[in-house]
Amino acid sequence: MMATIETVAVVGAGVIGSGWAARFALHGIDVKVYDPSSDTGRVLDGVLTNARAAWDGLGLPPADEGTVTIVDSIEGAVHDAGHVQESAPEDLGLKQEILAEIDEHAPVETVIGSSTSGIRPSELQVPLAHHPERLLVGHPFNPVYLLPLVEVCGGEQTGDGAITRAIDFYSSVSMKPLHVRVEIDAFIADRLQEALWREALWLVNDGVATTEEIDDAIRYGFGLRSAQMGVFETYRIAGGEGGLAHFLKQFGPTLAWPWTKLTDVPELTDELVDKLESQSDAQSGHYRVGELERIRDRNLVGILRALETNEWGAGQTLARQRDRFL
Ligand code: NAD
Repeated sequence: MMATIETVAVVGAGVIGSGWAARFALHGIDVKVYDPSSDTGRVLDGVLTNARAAWDGLGLPPADEGTVTIVDSIEGAVHDAGHVQESAPEDLGLKQEILAEIDEHAPVETVIGSSTSGIRPSELQVPLAHHPERLLVGHPFNPVYLLPLVEVCGGEQTGDGAITRAIDFYSSVSMKPLHVRVEIDAFIADRLQEALWREALWLVNDGVATTEEIDDAIRYGFGLRSAQMGVFETYRIAGGEGGLAHFLKQFGPTLAWPWTKLTDVPELTDELVDKLESQSDAQSGHYRVGELERIRDRNLVGILRALETNEWGAGQTLARQRDRFL
């Protein structure tokens, strides 16, 4: 059983770092935040407000919140932290510099998790002069305070002990750690998301559909299914009584049909960028991003509660969270 972690450092507090800070604080952990931006306090306040509303929406009892303190150096954030979560911009050189500094000042047993969406942990740990074995990727999903998945991936130098400690810690803040056992670029979920994203870009690029039509094709259909069953369970059912075997027999050959451009990426020309932006404005420009975040959160809360009632998928993580706090 791991020692209870009472203080966590969040280094980089934009969309993702603030989401982590909110999740930790709502679980009673004190958070020290370092971010060079002068806007950090405002961003954190906004995310904490959304996270508290989501917590209430989930029907959890009022949280005994930890404190969130903004500090002015990496050393100040990490020197007494039981876990460090780095969420700086997705730039290898910058992350390496930041992680090396964290490694210099964090207690030796403290795991350093990077939120990177796609950089391999082996690359991130190269400049760590002290304890590279405690560096790993802990890749979350936005909004971090509401979505339970965190992909945990070690690099060549990562120790098994660090992986275990990270999994225990993320579980203790009501997450579902998924150990990515083979180190690959972009881990598991972003590989899948990027395949869909590439196809969507092609469909806009080729004038087949608008951003809104593509989003409707997802959210009125297979997107609803995806929240509760992944691709394999879904296709097992789609095969009828013959299950996945029948499905593969029927649809396997279509994989060879020219349905997809999966491996090509459309070039993001000025023309395509303009088209994407103007279509997205037409689709959603009448909402501010903050409004869209709150709409998203209320929908996610409803979906999670339905899954909890059915004791299924991510609802099981919420049920454990409720057991702990009731
Ligand atoms: P962001 O731009 O919203 O936030 C990055 C923050 O880092 C900013 O607040 C910036 O001021 C801060 N920063 C800049 N220089 C810094 C430094 N030297 N030290 C500390 N902080 C510094 O970006 P984001 O979307 O929050 O992404 C952060 C990380 O999380 C990236 O690695 C990204 O790949 C990953 N991630 C993003 C998402 C997503 O959906 N946005 C999802 C999962 C993981």
